[in-house]
Amino acid sequence: MNLAKVRNIGISAHIDSGKTTLSERILFYAGRIHKIEDVRGGGDGATMDHMELEKERGITITSAATSLKWKNYAINLIDTPGHVDFTVEVERSLRVLDGAILVLCSVGGVQSQSMTVDRQMKRYNVPRLAFINKMDRTGADPFKVVKQVRDKLGADAVLFQLPIGKEENFQGVVDLVAMKAYYNDGDKGETIRVEEIPAELKEQAEEYRHEMLEAISMYDDSLMEKILGEEEITADEIHKIVREAVINQSFTPVFMGSAFKNKSVQPLLDGITRYLPSPTEVTNYGNDPAEEGKKIRLEPDPNKPLVSMGFKITDDEYGQLTYTRIYQGAIEKGNSYFNQRTGRKERFSRLVRMHSDKREEIDRAEAGDIIAVMGIDCASGDTYCSEPNYISLENIFVADPVIKMS
Ligand code: GDP
Repeated sequence: MNLAKVRNIGISAHIDSGKTTLSERILFYAGRIHKIEDVRGGGDGATMDHMELEKERGITITSAATSLKWKNYAINLIDTPGHVDFTVEVERSLRVLDGAILVLCSVGGVQSQSMTVDRQMKRYNVPRLAFINKMDRTGADPFKVVKQVRDKLGADAVLFQLPIGKEENFQGVVDLVAMKAYYNDGDKGETIRVEEIPAELKEQAEEYRHEMLEAISMYDDSLMEKILGEEEITADEIHKIVREAVINQSFTPVFMGSAFKNKSVQPLLDGITRYLPSPTEVTNYGNDPAEEGKKIRLEPDPNKPLVSMGFKITDDEYGQLTYTRIYQGAIEKGNSYFNQRTGRKERFSRLVRMHSDKREEIDRAEAGDIIAVMGIDCASGDTYCSEPNYISLENIFVADPVIKMS
């Protein structure tokens, strides 16, 4: 597995901002749900709620972690509870994320719950992007929302896109990095069309690109010089600087779109793969059972001894599933591993990867990945290792983002 191409991410949001709809769109575009509009009834997202949709598909799309492919990346979309309190369950789910999208409503902007979930992510060192959803709504104002992200969340946030068309005429976005216009076509908005920026938006796009570049140049002196010298700046240069600043949690790029009308969800997926960290860019620690208070750095290396955590346990008609993040080493089907809390050895006889519409049986999974183990007897938060009394992840919730300045 190429870890550089893996993203473990969550979507955090104020209730009703469209987190569920957006998750579904992401799965739809990634080709996992093909009939979402059919079951939902012609684009009216309200006709069937996701619990019914779940039944219809025979498998949960709100599973604790859903795997999808986007271009040549593997994305594990982890369900992040929108609770306002710091429960252990919330902490655990944040613990397994390497990055997140903060969804905001284009009208409501930054609301109290948005501030709480953002604070939680900050506390757990989760790098994030912002996505202003519901751009099709009357009163949608992304310029106001991005200002709120700066003022209320204290983030160095800047628009990476501009809207094309307003409110119910919202058609797509101008990407200020590529300086292209992105539209969705097809009955269900399933395809994307890339065009030149409409003439009437050119001037505004130049202005906002300049603002975006100035914001980014704070993180890179040579970019500053290039701006001053009016030299050409490539998209790759921008991506690299932004990626580092996002991973260090200094900077928040802001995207926008409408999950409801299927606009601009694909550019967000590109943002996820470009700017959010891979498992190798985050350092995780475990507790040394031999010495209280001593932390051991975990290596996302499949050849090291296993360290994994069961972060969520669910029960359905197929039995018990333990969603597990592997921090170090690998899990092989049929092998036995030690529960660090109980000391008991447990055989992992069936491993599955959860997709939105099917569960895939797998033989092996490596560090950096998230899978589910069927039928093991453990409690949420338990650590499994290849050796007894090796490392425990208990009460260790904060990861350090690391960025290699190569
Ligand atoms: P959640 O509570 O954050 O998971 O929000 P939902 O996905 O359930 O969405 C809440 C409501 O907003 C639903 O009625 C959706 O149909 C609607 N909604 C979601 N995305 C959009 C959007 O982009 N535009 C508009 N107009 N409505 C949306």
